[in-house]
Amino acid sequence: MLKKIDKLLKLQLETRLVRATTDADFRQVKSHIPPLFQTVNFDYSDAEEGLAIFRAEKAGYIYSRNGNPTTDLFAQMVALLEESEAGLATGSGMGAVSAVFLALTNSGDQVVSSAAIYGGTRSFLQKHLTSHGVRTDFVDISDLAAVEAALTKRTRIIFTEVVGNPNLVVADIRGLADLAKRHGVLLVVDNTFTPPPLIQPLRHGADVVLHSATKYIGGHGDLLGGVIASSREFIEPMIEVVKHYGATLSPFNAWLALRGMRTLVLRLQRQCENAFTLARFLNDHPAVSRVFYPGLPDHPHHQVAARELQAFGGILAFEMKNGFDAAKRVMDGIQVCSFTTSLGEIDTLLIHPASTSHIGLAPEERQAIGVTDALIRLSVGIESIVDLQEDLDQALNEADRLTTHTVKRKETR
Ligand SMILES: *Cc1c(COP(=O)(O)O)cnc(C)c1O
Repeated sequence: MLKKIDKLLKLQLETRLVRATTDADFRQVKSHIPPLFQTVNFDYSDAEEGLAIFRAEKAGYIYSRNGNPTTDLFAQMVALLEESEAGLATGSGMGAVSAVFLALTNSGDQVVSSAAIYGGTRSFLQKHLTSHGVRTDFVDISDLAAVEAALTKRTRIIFTEVVGNPNLVVADIRGLADLAKRHGVLLVVDNTFTPPPLIQPLRHGADVVLHSATKYIGGHGDLLGGVIASSREFIEPMIEVVKHYGATLSPFNAWLALRGMRTLVLRLQRQCENAFTLARFLNDHPAVSRVFYPGLPDHPHHQVAARELQAFGGILAFEMKNGFDAAKRVMDGIQVCSFTTSLGEIDTLLIHPASTSHIGLAPEERQAIGVTDALIRLSVGIESIVDLQEDLDQALNEADRLTTHTVKRKETR
Protein backbone atom coordinates (compact mmCIF):
# COMPACT_ATOMS: atom_id res chain seq x y z
CA MET A 1 0.00 0.00 0.00
CA LEU A 2 2.84 2.38 0.79
CA LYS A 3 4.47 2.71 -2.63
CA LYS A 4 7.23 5.19 -1.87
CA ILE A 5 8.97 3.61 1.11
CA ASP A 6 12.46 4.64 -0.01
CA LYS A 7 11.39 8.25 -0.37
CA LEU A 8 9.66 8.19 3.01
CA LEU A 9 12.79 6.80 4.71
CA LYS A 10 14.77 9.82 3.50
CA LEU A 11 12.48 12.16 5.47
CA GLN A 12 12.96 13.06 9.14
CA LEU A 13 10.92 10.87 11.48
CA GLU A 14 8.31 13.51 12.33
CA THR A 15 7.79 14.37 8.65
CA ARG A 16 7.73 10.71 7.69
CA LEU A 17 4.92 9.89 10.12
CA VAL A 18 2.86 12.84 8.94
CA ARG A 19 3.39 12.13 5.24
CA ALA A 20 3.30 8.35 5.07
CA THR A 21 -0.43 7.63 5.30
CA THR A 22 -1.28 10.25 2.67
CA ASP A 23 0.87 8.28 0.21
CA ALA A 24 -1.07 5.07 0.77
CA ASP A 25 -2.68 3.85 -2.44
CA PHE A 26 -5.66 1.52 -2.18
CA ARG A 27 -6.65 1.49 -5.84
CA GLN A 28 -5.71 -2.18 -6.20
CA VAL A 29 -7.76 -3.25 -3.17
CA LYS A 30 -11.16 -4.60 -4.13
CA SER A 31 -13.09 -4.20 -0.90
CA HIS A 32 -16.34 -6.16 -1.03
CA ILE A 33 -18.03 -3.64 1.23
CA PRO A 34 -17.76 0.05 0.32
CA PRO A 35 -14.89 1.64 2.22
CA LEU A 36 -15.34 4.39 4.74
CA PHE A 37 -13.89 7.62 3.29
CA GLN A 38 -13.21 9.15 6.67
CA THR A 39 -11.55 12.22 5.25
CA VAL A 40 -12.17 15.94 5.13
CA ASN A 41 -10.34 16.67 1.86
CA PHE A 42 -9.30 15.00 -1.39
CA ASP A 43 -5.98 15.19 -3.25
CA TYR A 44 -5.50 16.25 -6.87
CA SER A 45 -2.93 14.48 -9.02
CA ASP A 46 -1.72 17.76 -10.54
CA ALA A 47 -2.57 21.45 -10.91
CA GLU A 48 -4.59 20.83 -14.08
CA GLU A 49 -6.80 18.32 -12.33
CA GLY A 50 -7.29 20.68 -9.37
CA LEU A 51 -8.39 23.43 -11.72
CA ALA A 52 -10.78 21.13 -13.60
CA ILE A 53 -12.40 19.84 -10.42
CA PHE A 54 -12.80 23.32 -8.90
CA ARG A 55 -14.31 24.52 -12.17
CA ALA A 56 -16.69 21.53 -12.05
CA GLU A 57 -15.43 20.46 -15.49
CA LYS A 58 -14.28 17.18 -14.02
CA ALA A 59 -16.09 15.03 -11.44
CA GLY A 60 -14.22 14.95 -8.16
CA TYR A 61 -14.49 15.69 -4.48
CA ILE A 62 -13.18 18.82 -2.78
CA TYR A 63 -14.29 19.03 0.85
CA SER A 64 -16.50 16.62 2.79
CA ARG A 65 -19.03 19.22 3.95
CA ASN A 66 -19.92 19.60 0.27
CA GLY A 67 -19.68 15.95 -0.67
CA ASN A 68 -18.01 12.68 0.26
CA PRO A 69 -18.11 9.30 -1.53
CA THR A 70 -19.43 7.34 1.50
CA THR A 71 -22.12 9.93 2.21
CA ASP A 72 -23.06 10.18 -1.47
CA LEU A 73 -23.39 6.41 -1.75
CA PHE A 74 -25.81 6.49 1.17
CA ALA A 75 -27.81 9.28 -0.51
CA GLN A 76 -28.00 7.18 -3.69
CA MET A 77 -29.19 4.18 -1.68
CA VAL A 78 -31.97 6.32 -0.26
CA ALA A 79 -33.01 7.34 -3.77
CA LEU A 80 -33.20 3.61 -4.59
CA LEU A 81 -35.23 3.03 -1.45
CA GLU A 82 -37.81 5.72 -2.18
CA GLU A 83 -37.47 5.42 -5.98
CA SER A 84 -36.68 9.08 -6.42
CA GLU A 85 -34.62 10.88 -9.02
CA ALA A 86 -32.21 12.23 -6.38
CA GLY A 87 -31.29 11.77 -2.73
CA LEU A 88 -29.54 13.84 -0.09
CA ALA A 89 -28.05 12.82 3.26
CA THR A 90 -28.10 15.15 6.27
CA GLY A 91 -26.55 15.16 9.73
CA SER A 92 -29.82 14.16 11.42
CA GLY A 93 -33.54 13.98 10.77
CA MET A 94 -33.82 17.62 11.86
CA GLY A 95 -31.13 18.46 9.30
CA ALA A 96 -33.46 16.98 6.67
CA VAL A 97 -36.52 18.81 8.03
CA SER A 98 -34.75 22.18 8.13
CA ALA A 99 -33.11 21.74 4.70
CA VAL A 100 -36.48 20.99 3.09
CA PHE A 101 -38.27 24.00 4.56
CA LEU A 102 -35.39 26.45 4.19
CA ALA A 103 -34.89 25.44 0.55
CA LEU A 104 -38.53 25.35 -0.52
CA THR A 105 -40.11 28.33 1.26
CA ASN A 106 -39.67 32.07 1.04
CA SER A 107 -40.70 34.89 3.33
CA GLY A 108 -44.46 35.35 3.08
CA ASP A 109 -45.21 31.69 2.38
CA GLN A 110 -47.50 29.55 4.52
CA VAL A 111 -47.14 25.90 5.54
CA VAL A 112 -50.11 23.71 6.42
CA SER A 113 -48.89 20.97 8.74
CA SER A 114 -50.36 18.01 10.51
CA ALA A 115 -50.68 18.72 14.23
CA ALA A 116 -49.48 15.19 15.01
CA ILE A 117 -45.80 15.61 14.16
CA TYR A 118 -42.46 15.11 15.84
CA GLY A 119 -41.88 17.68 18.61
CA GLY A 120 -38.59 18.88 17.12
CA THR A 121 -40.25 19.56 13.76
CA ARG A 122 -43.11 21.44 15.40
CA SER A 123 -40.64 23.53 17.32
CA PHE A 124 -38.63 24.25 14.15
CA LEU A 125 -41.76 25.36 12.30
CA GLN A 126 -43.05 27.50 15.16
CA LYS A 127 -39.84 29.02 16.47
CA HIS A 128 -37.43 29.03 13.57
CA LEU A 129 -39.31 29.10 10.29
CA THR A 130 -41.50 31.92 11.63
CA SER A 131 -38.39 34.08 11.97
CA HIS A 132 -37.87 33.60 8.21
CA GLY A 133 -41.35 35.03 7.62
CA VAL A 134 -43.02 31.67 6.98
CA ARG A 135 -46.04 30.84 9.12
CA THR A 136 -47.42 27.39 9.81
CA ASP A 137 -51.01 26.40 10.49
CA PHE A 138 -51.56 23.07 12.23
CA VAL A 139 -54.52 20.92 11.27
CA ASP A 140 -55.99 17.47 11.87
CA ILE A 141 -54.36 15.80 8.87
CA SER A 142 -56.87 12.94 8.80
CA ASP A 143 -59.58 15.49 7.91
CA LEU A 144 -59.03 16.37 4.25
CA ALA A 145 -61.72 19.06 4.36
CA ALA A 146 -59.93 20.75 7.27
CA VAL A 147 -56.66 20.62 5.36
CA GLU A 148 -58.28 22.16 2.28
CA ALA A 149 -59.92 24.87 4.39
CA ALA A 150 -56.51 25.84 5.81
CA LEU A 151 -54.97 26.38 2.36
CA THR A 152 -54.53 30.00 1.28
CA LYS A 153 -53.05 31.78 -1.72
CA ARG A 154 -49.77 31.83 0.18
CA THR A 155 -49.60 28.09 0.94
CA ARG A 156 -46.43 26.54 -0.40
CA ILE A 157 -46.27 23.20 1.43
CA ILE A 158 -48.56 20.63 3.01
CA PHE A 159 -46.50 18.71 5.53
CA THR A 160 -47.30 15.46 7.30
CA GLU A 161 -45.95 12.26 8.74
CA VAL A 162 -47.59 9.10 7.37
CA VAL A 163 -48.29 7.84 10.89
CA GLY A 164 -48.00 10.43 13.66
CA ASN A 165 -47.47 10.35 17.39
CA PRO A 166 -48.92 9.86 19.91
CA ASN A 167 -52.23 8.38 18.75
CA LEU A 168 -50.90 6.89 15.50
CA VAL A 169 -52.86 9.32 13.33
CA VAL A 170 -52.71 8.06 9.74
CA ALA A 171 -52.54 10.52 6.83
CA ASP A 172 -54.20 9.68 3.51
CA ILE A 173 -51.15 10.38 1.34
CA ARG A 174 -52.96 9.89 -1.98
CA GLY A 175 -55.80 12.16 -0.89
CA LEU A 176 -53.36 14.83 0.29
CA ALA A 177 -51.32 14.58 -2.92
CA ASP A 178 -54.46 15.10 -5.02
CA LEU A 179 -55.37 18.09 -2.89
CA ALA A 180 -51.85 19.50 -3.19
CA LYS A 181 -51.88 19.11 -7.00
CA ARG A 182 -55.26 20.80 -7.32
CA HIS A 183 -54.05 23.81 -5.33
CA GLY A 184 -50.56 23.94 -6.83
CA VAL A 185 -48.75 23.30 -3.54
CA LEU A 186 -46.10 20.75 -2.60
CA LEU A 187 -46.71 17.70 -0.44
CA VAL A 188 -43.78 16.93 1.88
CA VAL A 189 -43.91 13.67 3.84
CA ASP A 190 -41.84 12.63 6.85
CA ASN A 191 -41.70 8.85 6.34
CA THR A 192 -39.60 8.04 9.43
CA PHE A 193 -42.22 5.76 11.06
CA THR A 194 -43.17 3.86 7.89
CA PRO A 195 -40.14 3.44 5.60
CA PRO A 196 -40.31 1.36 2.44
CA PRO A 197 -41.53 -1.30 1.90
CA LEU A 198 -44.38 -0.08 4.14
CA ILE A 199 -45.06 2.92 1.88
CA GLN A 200 -43.28 4.90 -0.84
CA PRO A 201 -45.01 8.28 -0.59
CA LEU A 202 -43.57 9.53 -3.92
CA ARG A 203 -45.53 6.79 -5.68
CA HIS A 204 -48.66 8.11 -4.04
CA GLY A 205 -48.00 11.58 -5.42
CA ALA A 206 -45.87 13.25 -2.72
CA ASP A 207 -43.20 15.68 -3.95
CA VAL A 208 -40.58 15.28 -1.22
CA VAL A 209 -39.95 12.50 1.31
CA LEU A 210 -37.66 12.78 4.31
CA HIS A 211 -36.58 10.46 7.10
CA SER A 212 -34.74 10.53 10.35
CA ALA A 213 -32.24 7.79 9.43
CA THR A 214 -31.50 7.66 13.15
CA LYS A 215 -34.59 5.47 13.45
CA TYR A 216 -35.49 2.56 11.11
CA ILE A 217 -32.99 3.18 8.30
CA GLY A 218 -29.97 3.02 10.62
CA GLY A 219 -31.95 0.72 12.83
CA HIS A 220 -29.38 -0.05 15.51
CA GLY A 221 -29.38 3.05 17.70
CA ASP A 222 -25.76 3.90 16.95
CA LEU A 223 -25.99 6.83 14.54
CA LEU A 224 -27.73 10.15 13.93
CA GLY A 225 -28.64 10.84 10.33
CA GLY A 226 -31.28 12.14 7.98
CA VAL A 227 -32.22 11.74 4.33
CA ILE A 228 -34.30 13.45 1.69
CA ALA A 229 -35.62 11.87 -1.53
CA SER A 230 -37.12 13.96 -4.32
CA SER A 231 -36.61 15.25 -7.85
CA ARG A 232 -33.28 16.84 -8.81
CA GLU A 233 -35.07 20.18 -9.10
CA PHE A 234 -35.95 20.19 -5.38
CA ILE A 235 -32.81 18.45 -4.10
CA GLU A 236 -30.44 21.02 -5.71
CA PRO A 237 -31.44 23.96 -3.47
CA MET A 238 -31.44 21.64 -0.43
CA ILE A 239 -27.81 20.72 -1.16
CA GLU A 240 -27.00 24.44 -0.93
CA VAL A 241 -28.79 24.74 2.43
CA VAL A 242 -26.96 21.71 3.85
CA LYS A 243 -23.62 23.20 2.75
CA HIS A 244 -24.35 26.62 4.21
CA TYR A 245 -25.90 25.46 7.47
CA GLY A 246 -23.34 22.68 7.90
CA ALA A 247 -26.02 19.99 8.26
CA THR A 248 -23.77 17.45 6.52
CA LEU A 249 -23.87 13.77 7.48
CA SER A 250 -20.52 12.48 8.74
CA PRO A 251 -18.94 9.75 6.57
CA PHE A 252 -18.78 7.38 9.53
CA ASN A 253 -22.49 7.75 10.25
CA ALA A 254 -23.22 7.30 6.54
CA TRP A 255 -21.17 4.11 6.58
CA LEU A 256 -23.06 2.78 9.61
CA ALA A 257 -26.35 3.72 7.96
CA LEU A 258 -25.33 1.88 4.78
CA ARG A 259 -24.73 -1.23 6.82
CA GLY A 260 -27.97 -0.90 8.77
CA MET A 261 -30.07 -0.16 5.74
CA ARG A 262 -29.31 -3.43 4.00
CA THR A 263 -31.44 -5.33 6.51
CA LEU A 264 -34.24 -2.76 6.63
CA VAL A 265 -36.86 -4.96 4.96
CA LEU A 266 -36.18 -7.99 7.15
CA ARG A 267 -36.13 -5.94 10.33
CA LEU A 268 -39.39 -4.20 9.47
CA GLN A 269 -41.17 -7.44 8.62
CA ARG A 270 -40.37 -8.82 12.04
CA GLN A 271 -41.08 -5.53 13.82
CA CYS A 272 -44.49 -5.20 12.18
CA GLU A 273 -45.41 -8.81 12.98
CA ASN A 274 -44.33 -8.41 16.59
CA ALA A 275 -46.12 -5.07 16.92
CA PHE A 276 -49.39 -6.47 15.58
CA THR A 277 -49.24 -9.42 17.99
CA LEU A 278 -48.46 -7.11 20.92
CA ALA A 279 -51.26 -4.70 19.90
CA ARG A 280 -53.78 -7.55 20.05
CA PHE A 281 -52.31 -8.83 23.30
CA LEU A 282 -52.45 -5.38 24.94
CA ASN A 283 -55.96 -4.83 23.61
CA ASP A 284 -57.11 -7.88 25.61
CA HIS A 285 -55.03 -7.08 28.71
CA PRO A 286 -57.07 -6.19 31.84
CA ALA A 287 -54.54 -3.52 32.97
CA VAL A 288 -54.88 -1.63 29.69
CA SER A 289 -57.72 0.76 28.89
CA ARG A 290 -56.88 1.63 25.29
CA VAL A 291 -54.51 0.66 22.48
CA PHE A 292 -53.53 2.83 19.50
CA TYR A 293 -52.36 0.78 16.52
CA PRO A 294 -53.55 1.30 12.94
CA GLY A 295 -53.71 -2.46 12.39
CA LEU A 296 -56.54 -2.84 14.90
CA PRO A 297 -59.95 -2.67 13.17
CA ASP A 298 -61.29 -0.16 15.71
CA HIS A 299 -58.49 2.35 15.08
CA PRO A 300 -60.20 5.40 13.51
CA HIS A 301 -57.87 5.36 10.49
CA HIS A 302 -57.65 1.62 10.00
CA GLN A 303 -59.19 1.75 6.51
CA VAL A 304 -56.73 4.35 5.21
CA ALA A 305 -53.82 2.46 6.77
CA ALA A 306 -54.96 -0.85 5.26
CA ARG A 307 -55.23 0.78 1.84
CA GLU A 308 -51.86 2.55 1.74
CA LEU A 309 -49.53 0.57 4.01
CA GLN A 310 -47.98 -2.84 3.27
CA ALA A 311 -48.02 -3.53 7.02
CA PHE A 312 -49.09 -1.43 9.99
CA GLY A 313 -45.67 -0.51 11.36
CA GLY A 314 -43.65 -1.21 14.47
CA ILE A 315 -44.92 1.62 16.69
CA LEU A 316 -47.89 1.45 19.00
CA ALA A 317 -49.17 3.24 22.06
CA PHE A 318 -51.44 2.22 24.90
CA GLU A 319 -52.97 3.64 28.06
CA MET A 320 -52.88 2.01 31.47
CA LYS A 321 -56.24 1.75 33.22
CA ASN A 322 -54.72 3.04 36.49
CA GLY A 323 -53.26 6.21 35.00
CA PHE A 324 -49.97 8.03 35.56
CA ASP A 325 -48.65 5.88 38.45
CA ALA A 326 -49.36 2.61 36.68
CA ALA A 327 -47.74 3.80 33.44
CA LYS A 328 -44.70 5.01 35.36
CA ARG A 329 -44.39 1.70 37.19
CA VAL A 330 -44.37 -0.23 33.91
CA MET A 331 -41.03 1.50 33.19
CA ASP A 332 -39.67 0.08 36.49
CA GLY A 333 -41.01 -3.41 35.83
CA ILE A 334 -39.76 -4.23 32.34
CA GLN A 335 -36.82 -6.65 32.21
CA VAL A 336 -36.39 -7.51 28.52
CA CYS A 337 -37.62 -4.28 26.92
CA SER A 338 -35.69 -1.04 27.41
CA PHE A 339 -36.93 2.20 28.95
CA THR A 340 -35.60 4.88 26.60
CA THR A 341 -36.47 7.47 23.98
CA SER A 342 -36.12 7.10 20.20
CA LEU A 343 -37.58 4.34 18.05
CA GLY A 344 -36.99 2.00 15.15
CA GLU A 345 -34.15 0.09 16.78
CA ILE A 346 -33.77 -3.69 16.80
CA ASP A 347 -34.73 -3.90 20.46
CA THR A 348 -38.08 -3.02 21.98
CA LEU A 349 -38.17 0.45 23.53
CA LEU A 350 -40.78 1.83 25.91
CA ILE A 351 -41.31 5.39 26.99
CA HIS A 352 -43.79 7.08 29.30
CA PRO A 353 -43.95 10.54 27.66
CA ALA A 354 -45.86 12.27 30.51
CA SER A 355 -43.01 11.64 32.98
CA THR A 356 -40.13 12.07 30.50
CA SER A 357 -40.17 13.71 27.04
CA HIS A 358 -43.29 15.81 27.78
CA ILE A 359 -42.69 16.58 31.48
CA GLY A 360 -42.08 20.25 30.53
CA LEU A 361 -45.69 20.70 29.39
CA ALA A 362 -48.63 21.45 31.67
CA PRO A 363 -51.05 18.51 32.03
CA GLU A 364 -53.68 20.39 29.96
CA GLU A 365 -51.15 21.02 27.20
CA ARG A 366 -50.17 17.35 27.19
CA GLN A 367 -53.83 16.34 27.06
CA ALA A 368 -54.41 18.65 24.09
CA ILE A 369 -51.82 16.83 21.99
CA GLY A 370 -52.96 13.40 23.13
CA VAL A 371 -50.09 12.70 25.51
CA THR A 372 -52.26 11.53 28.37
CA ASP A 373 -50.84 10.66 31.81
CA ALA A 374 -51.46 6.95 31.24
CA LEU A 375 -49.92 6.75 27.77
CA ILE A 376 -46.97 4.48 27.00
CA ARG A 377 -45.28 4.37 23.60
CA LEU A 378 -43.75 1.18 22.35
CA SER A 379 -41.25 0.84 19.50
CA VAL A 380 -41.25 -2.87 18.84
CA GLY A 381 -38.03 -4.72 18.05
CA ILE A 382 -37.03 -8.01 16.46
CA GLU A 383 -36.81 -10.12 19.63
CA SER A 384 -38.85 -13.30 20.07
CA ILE A 385 -42.48 -12.40 20.57
CA VAL A 386 -42.60 -14.97 23.41
CA ASP A 387 -40.16 -12.96 25.53
CA LEU A 388 -41.72 -9.61 24.65
CA GLN A 389 -45.21 -10.73 25.55
CA GLU A 390 -44.08 -12.33 28.81
CA ASP A 391 -42.10 -9.26 29.79
CA LEU A 392 -44.95 -6.85 29.15
CA ASP A 393 -47.42 -9.15 30.85
CA GLN A 394 -45.42 -9.32 34.09
CA ALA A 395 -44.62 -5.58 34.09
CA LEU A 396 -48.25 -4.63 33.42
CA ASN A 397 -49.66 -7.02 36.01
CA GLU A 398 -47.29 -5.77 38.68
CA ALA A 399 -47.92 -2.10 37.85
CA ASP A 400 -51.65 -2.78 37.91
CA ARG A 401 -51.51 -4.70 41.21
CA LEU A 402 -49.50 -1.97 42.97
CA THR A 403 -51.67 0.87 41.74
CA THR A 404 -55.04 -0.88 42.17
CA HIS A 405 -54.07 -1.31 45.83
CA THR A 406 -53.38 2.42 46.31
CA VAL A 407 -56.53 3.41 44.43
CA LYS A 408 -58.62 1.15 46.72
CA ARG A 409 -56.95 2.41 49.89
CA LYS A 410 -57.70 6.00 48.93
CA GLU A 411 -61.34 5.07 48.32
CA THR A 412 -61.82 3.49 51.77
CA ARG A 413 -60.42 6.48 53.64
C1 LIG B 1 -36.67 11.44 15.38
C2 LIG B 1 -37.54 12.07 14.39
C3 LIG B 1 -37.15 13.22 13.70
C4 LIG B 1 -35.85 13.94 14.00
O1 LIG B 1 -34.76 13.14 13.68
P1 LIG B 1 -33.31 13.27 14.36
O2 LIG B 1 -32.52 12.26 13.64
O3 LIG B 1 -33.49 13.00 15.81
O4 LIG B 1 -32.85 14.68 14.12
C5 LIG B 1 -38.01 13.73 12.75
N1 LIG B 1 -39.20 13.15 12.48
C6 LIG B 1 -39.60 12.05 13.14
C7 LIG B 1 -40.92 11.45 12.80
C8 LIG B 1 -38.80 11.46 14.11
O5 LIG B 1 -39.22 10.37 14.77
